[in-house]
Amino acid sequence: MRSYCRIRSYWPGAGAVGLCSPAAMGHGWAAPGLPRLLLLLLCCGRPLLVPSEGTTGQGTTSQVTVNQETTSQATTSSETTIRHSTTHPSTTSSPKKTQSPNLVSDEDEARKFVEEYDRRSQVVWNEYAEANWNYSTDISTDNSKLLMEKNLQMANHTVKYGTWARKFDVTNFQNATMKRMIKKIQDLERAALPTKELEEYNQILLDMETVYSVASVCHENGTCLRLEPDLTNLMATSRNYQDLAWAWKSWRDKVGRSILPYFPKYVELTNKAARLNGYQDGGDSWRSMYEMPFLEEELEQLFQELQPLYLNLHAYVRRALHRHYGPDVINLEGPIPAHLLGNMWAQSWSNIYDLVAPFPSAPKMDATEAMIKQGWTPLRMFKEADNFFTSLGLLPMPPEFWNKSMLEKPTDGREVVCHASAWDFFNGKDFRIKQCTSVNMEDLVVAHHEMGHIQYFMQYKDLPVTFREGANPGFHEAIGDVLALSVSTPTHLHKINLLSSGDGGYEEDINFLMKMALEKIAFIPFSFLVDQWRWRVFDGSVTRENYNQEWWSLRLKYQGVCPPLARSQDDFDPGAKFHIPASVPYVRYFVSFVIQFQFHQALCQAAGHQGPLHKCDIYQSKEAGKLLADAMKLGFSQPWPEAMRLITGQSNMSAAAMMTYFKPLLDWLVTENGRHGEKLGWPQYNWTPNSARLEGPFVGSGRVNFLGLNLEEQQARVGQWVLLFLGVALLVATLGLTQRLFSIRHHSLRRPHRGPQFGSEVELRHS
Ligand SMILES: [Zn+2]
Repeated sequence: MRSYCRIRSYWPGAGAVGLCSPAAMGHGWAAPGLPRLLLLLLCCGRPLLVPSEGTTGQGTTSQVTVNQETTSQATTSSETTIRHSTTHPSTTSSPKKTQSPNLVSDEDEARKFVEEYDRRSQVVWNEYAEANWNYSTDISTDNSKLLMEKNLQMANHTVKYGTWARKFDVTNFQNATMKRMIKKIQDLERAALPTKELEEYNQILLDMETVYSVASVCHENGTCLRLEPDLTNLMATSRNYQDLAWAWKSWRDKVGRSILPYFPKYVELTNKAARLNGYQDGGDSWRSMYEMPFLEEELEQLFQELQPLYLNLHAYVRRALHRHYGPDVINLEGPIPAHLLGNMWAQSWSNIYDLVAPFPSAPKMDATEAMIKQGWTPLRMFKEADNFFTSLGLLPMPPEFWNKSMLEKPTDGREVVCHASAWDFFNGKDFRIKQCTSVNMEDLVVAHHEMGHIQYFMQYKDLPVTFREGANPGFHEAIGDVLALSVSTPTHLHKINLLSSGDGGYEEDINFLMKMALEKIAFIPFSFLVDQWRWRVFDGSVTRENYNQEWWSLRLKYQGVCPPLARSQDDFDPGAKFHIPASVPYVRYFVSFVIQFQFHQALCQAAGHQGPLHKCDIYQSKEAGKLLADAMKLGFSQPWPEAMRLITGQSNMSAAAMMTYFKPLLDWLVTENGRHGEKLGWPQYNWTPNSARLEGPFVGSGRVNFLGLNLEEQQARVGQWVLLFLGVALLVATLGLTQRLFSIRHHSLRRPHRGPQFGSEVELRHS
């Protein structure tokens, strides 16, 4: 998942182009942070932090005056009031408009409008996508200038038609599709910003992504390493504690710290644009894509249902790391140092499979060796993925895809944005992937992931551009992963000659499920917390002074990991993860990981699969392919529960399929952890490894290290009391979870889904 991509562009909604593959600390922790943390502890299951007073826009509706000052095509200012909030169930699901005699309610006129909008958008979005592609595959001053020009052209287009759309009163329209389209066009997104601020915002986004993409870290001897492939490989393969700590720290020193100066202004302008479109803040705008008033609660419930799997995996992996690295750096009752899990962000743990294999003598479930031995190339990997899609009766990649994609990192000296992504050029025939592919099993999965986006683009290419998006952002991320679930099975890998044996016995089964869990289950808390943090940054309850400490609070709370080295208020560890500087919402990956197992289960049933879910391979099942295709063809034309119904026969998100898939592994883990008397969770929450206790810029300055943060002693003391409380709460929660273990997986979410609300999708990338 290193680089699943979602659609990426600087134009959420309007110019969605590509899709991808996931410290200020010292001050203010104890004193201002204390009441909020206590509140968190007292409100089990509630969001981690509560908004501080005086944060964001209040009230349920707001007067929005579109003020474009100097933007040329912003012909008129409108007094339209729109409200898209998803966070307040009491608000109505449709934008409210002030009663104005000037509003147009004629559907014929509206039809002409959307036809023109559609025609014109295809041209403007295509030009934008081309400029963006050129920049992303050749980072240069000239290309960045051209991109910024196209950015402004996009803004003018969005403002012109958005302002026009706001002149329609759709309340009594008979055509629901037309109504949905116009409401969506009414959202000006960032183009709502006054020109000067829009230019500043675009520049900040460009700069942040560029800083991230061109960064390298250097050894004292002058050797420099890039993220892809150097640091990624080092994190995946090194088993040397200090080397890993060096790479982990160097990347954050280089990138996180460089992103920090941009971030407060980015937050301010994101919020301003959101409010100009009637949202409370940037997070409210992002959440609106799901059209779910209870989104946060429903996601929290899904997360809780998966906790038994995560906690058991965490305890088991911690024991294995303890075996390898020793008691000085691994505490069997504490959080895991975040650099030992095979990935720069500890988001996927599959690279440390060799340390945790349940049955080391049974065959390894990794095809990488065979791929290298057989001389596989990146092109071959994408051909194999294409073959799987067409075997289901889905569409083959078109010639433009093979001719214009960038499937390998260029060797001609060009700087590129390596993070994998899939791109729609909005002309119905041009679709591309940009990926710095390495020949290994992980990237074979990513290739399927990205191609899933392309398949989605092609399935909905005949819809109006307004609807050329996933049913919700999680759907777009899930398609390719669903196929990869079949591709990864030993049976399928055997079929394509990448594993010598196919269907082994119990031990091979558990090995395989462990490998999958290291990818899928390990990712659950990370994918959940990234936007928990950003939503709170946007609503003002996390501020510049505590960006990094709140990040680590969430990393501890949800993932049970801690920083291996002391962090300070000058660090900005969230900024060292691509999606933060690239401004790509993240909770879509959490949604995707849950629903892809629902899809897998339904497709396996359609394919006539018998036996355990984890053994299913839907290869060549036209019935399974048709279910996916029918859902993809809907695009964003209807609320997502309809697409869910087409695939699964019911309309809710549920963690049950994921629990079913991993049931044999969970049983094995429970027994194994029981055998060792493992304590689930991390009751010694304030433990940190030696390196974090002993190092740090503030040693000897009267400050102490607490949770890897440099704090005043008094702050740390208060923090310890808070964490004592947290420990008790965790213990209680763990006991409760154990009890619920066998009952919760039958629960499904039955909350009513509210009607359509209109936000826009932005970018598609890899996690
Ligand atoms: Zn993606």
